[in-house]
Amino acid sequence: MSSPVFAGVEAGGTKFVCAVGTGPEDLIREVIPTTTSSETLGHVVRFLRAQARPLTAVGMASFGPVDLDPHSPTYGYIASTPKPGWSNVDLRGALHRELGLPVAFDTDVNAAALAESRWGAAQGLDNVLYLTVGTGIGGGALVNGAPLHGLTHPEMGHIFIPHDLQTDPFLGICPYHADCLEGLASGVAMERRWGVKAELLPADHPAWALEARYLARALANLVCTLSPRRIIMGGGVMHHLDLFPMIREHLREVLRDYVQAPQIVPPLLGDDAGVLGAMILAQRIVT
Ligand code: ZN
Repeated sequence: MSSPVFAGVEAGGTKFVCAVGTGPEDLIREVIPTTTSSETLGHVVRFLRAQARPLTAVGMASFGPVDLDPHSPTYGYIASTPKPGWSNVDLRGALHRELGLPVAFDTDVNAAALAESRWGAAQGLDNVLYLTVGTGIGGGALVNGAPLHGLTHPEMGHIFIPHDLQTDPFLGICPYHADCLEGLASGVAMERRWGVKAELLPADHPAWALEARYLARALANLVCTLSPRRIIMGGGVMHHLDLFPMIREHLREVLRDYVQAPQIVPPLLGDDAGVLGAMILAQRIVT
């Protein structure tokens, strides 16, 4: 008997990545630019309906904030987002109604953590942290093999870290908290602080040492609360690979020898982590 075929949809602010198949070796992909919600979702539905093989279920991994409470009347909705026209959009319901299939729903970063633990940089591990540092900062976690959420999904970009105004007088850019982690260490914060895009900063610029210190402090908090066996760090800012050894060193310094620092590695699945994770979400609701 042939393997069941699942669909994954990674919903992002600039593009929706759709994929259909049975795993990384058997994948038909389609990238759809994010325009209006009705146009974009219409395009997703057309792509999924056009598949030759029957689909068993759909998984959706979305940018946030989203409602993940299955008992909530707005389950599967994007909540209030600064992206125009996308607040309170029923992402999950739209696909479920149009396709008549079960639709699983989670955050893009939880999905990426799932995919990296199945096929990527954290294979075989049940306790994994995935942190993306790009325009914003977001984190997903697998705890004992399951994506972590409760009252809402974790908002790891908005945790607080020590901020010494003497050495870093930059006030932070988070519209809600000013100097939370995202406010101090996202790609946008780096650009605003130094007046140039992060990828254009030279390797010996003091920006990188400060960035490594902030990210290591954030990781120290996450290690002490979630106890991940491995940490995967992706996103545009982490393309500066020199950050990895600097973060590892700072993290060891912060944790001392009291808490063991887990391995910190780049993602192995690259841009496909989210959509592959969405396919695993689909698989999880029917098996
Ligand atoms: Zn914040």
